[in-house]
Amino acid sequence: MAKIKAIRGMNDILPEQTPWWQFLEESTQSVLSSYGYQEIRTPIVEQTDLFKRSIGEVTDIVEKEMYTFADRNDESLTLRPEGTASCVRACEEHGLLFNQVQRLWYAGPMFRYERPQKGRYRQFHQIGVETFGMQGPDIDAELILIGARLWKKLGVDQAVSLQLNSLGSSVARQAYKEDLVAFLSKHVDELDADSRRRLQSNPLRILDSKDPKTQALLHQAPDFHAYLDDESRQHFQQLCEYLDAAGIPYVINPRLVRGLDYYGKTVFEWVTDRLGAQGTVCAGGRYDGLVEQLGGRATPAVGFALGVERLILLLESEAGLAAERLQQADIYLLPLGAEASKAAMQLAEGLRNETGLRVLLGCGGGSFKSQMKRADKSGAEIALLLGEDELSQQRVTAKPLRSGEEQQAISWQALSSYLNNRFKS
Ligand code: ATP
Ligand code: MG
Repeated sequence: MAKIKAIRGMNDILPEQTPWWQFLEESTQSVLSSYGYQEIRTPIVEQTDLFKRSIGEVTDIVEKEMYTFADRNDESLTLRPEGTASCVRACEEHGLLFNQVQRLWYAGPMFRYERPQKGRYRQFHQIGVETFGMQGPDIDAELILIGARLWKKLGVDQAVSLQLNSLGSSVARQAYKEDLVAFLSKHVDELDADSRRRLQSNPLRILDSKDPKTQALLHQAPDFHAYLDDESRQHFQQLCEYLDAAGIPYVINPRLVRGLDYYGKTVFEWVTDRLGAQGTVCAGGRYDGLVEQLGGRATPAVGFALGVERLILLLESEAGLAAERLQQADIYLLPLGAEASKAAMQLAEGLRNETGLRVLLGCGGGSFKSQMKRADKSGAEIALLLGEDELSQQRVTAKPLRSGEEQQAISWQALSSYLNNRFKS
């Protein structure tokens, strides 16, 4: 019978890769907690309308990327393609936005029906950060500082750079949209097929086109910054001042737009040139209109989401991982025979209590030779052998696995302090 395989574009993350994931997750959590951010967890499935109403009907996500299905009660449900909408829904539902500010983060899988390739999958993971109730550019700057601190902590700060833009108010965007469409309509022949389609549905996205001919044409298109409203202009300028004061370099990219409808004012992306076409590792911006759009009171909001898989690709190519993360254990306790096995289980419990070291017990029997192979593969520094002789004398033979040191006999009583000493540094 043919074996069942995982779904295309949905990856298993194997034990040799999870240390990188854990490193990224722990680093992110510690940076976010140092800024006072709190975690929120929401369901992976939501009503389809939540995403239609928030992300926008004429975006790539809603048009062609959502995993939508009818449940047994014929309700239309969707696997979340991103986290912001769910976060806003949850905050509204539980009254977290009324007269208060929130600094929140979440992490987990997202689902989009895209063409799988390096850095682009159908189930992928994001760590998202959302803030509510703060309208000044100081919080926009804080989010960027969080990113910068994280890249440093991960050791990829030399590999990423910051792109920044303002999308202005919806009134400014509307005026610009009309002029952009008028301009591009005169040059339809020079547009790529996607952009031609977007001319009617979502013209701002054309600015994002990767097609060289379209890009060339856009150089002559009206400049969005000329349309910026005063408030947005000032907000943007102040944000730049905060970043200058913090010594964070950035590139202003007037063609940076985001794929989702709900952004206005600040938008930013952290990009790298080391991953080919999938170069955006983190993206975000301000979405002051979304809470109201979903039925709440108008609430200023700004956030970002980082793509975990892309960052891990970058980590693997740019940064090191502490060797002990790649090991399974510090100590391998190797019993020989049924009697020794019973004693070994007790001994291992005691060592875990008294040393805090990672103790791997050789379960399942096997020859001495095959057990030693497993001990070696575990990455343990030291094997503790427990045979019949050792058992009768209440000792173990400690055999260093990574150095040429001699093995030595150690009594059970002295074992914890011997190990604590040895692993002290
Ligand atoms: P792209 O332009 O690459 O399609 P996007 O604008 O659709 O990205 P966002 O919705 O802003 O992406 O998501 C934030 C981040 O999540 C992206 O910058 C990227 O790092 C990551 N991401 C988005 N889609 C995928 C995917 N299909 N597979 C892996 N990572 C993804
Ligand atoms: Mg996309």
